[in-house]
Amino acid sequence: MNRAYILLGTNMGNKLAHLQMAIELMHLQNISLIQQSSIYKTAAWGNTDQDDFYNQVIEVATELSAEILLQTLLEIETKMGRTRNQKWEARIIDLDILYFNNEIIDTEKLKVPHPYLHVRRFTLIPLTEIAANYIHPIFNKTNSELLANCSDGSEVIKN
Ligand code: ATP
Ligand code: CA
Ligand code: CA
Repeated sequence: MNRAYILLGTNMGNKLAHLQMAIELMHLQNISLIQQSSIYKTAAWGNTDQDDFYNQVIEVATELSAEILLQTLLEIETKMGRTRNQKWEARIIDLDILYFNNEIIDTEKLKVPHPYLHVRRFTLIPLTEIAANYIHPIFNKTNSELLANCSDGSEVIKN
């Protein structure tokens, strides 16, 4: 059985419902919820002229390989109505793989640990809530240490 941490993000429509729906659709694909963080409200990052985000990190167990997990998450995004036109545009749902076991994966389609994990407070705060002592396999630092060293000043508020 594989363990993964997934970041959920949404900044359109009924955000709470979108987070719940994504978790339900994962469950239907044998991606089982083990732990979930609180939901955090964060200002849009990168392209700041947008509605605020709701972000949450979950830990899941699955028999799916990392590649098939990614494919399944992208299909769930599409099923929920996500379109991709511009980088960092508003979205109904975004599902990113943060960690997959302790693996380092670097292919064109999939990079794990997620390459921006350590520079985003909206990722590190919910991640640290449920996995403070998990060690990042590239930096050899815990999520708590990455958060303490993170220079991102953006506001992340528990909902
Ligand atoms: P960011 O990477 O800044 O969070 P984004 O989530 O907005 O950007 P998307 O348009 O959702 O980017 O994804 C673009 C592609 O990123 C996906 O099609 C996928 O192949 C690739 N990708 C690479 N690594 C990962 C990962 N760890 N989790 C999810 N997608 C990934
Ligand atoms: Ca993302
Ligand atoms: Ca994504």
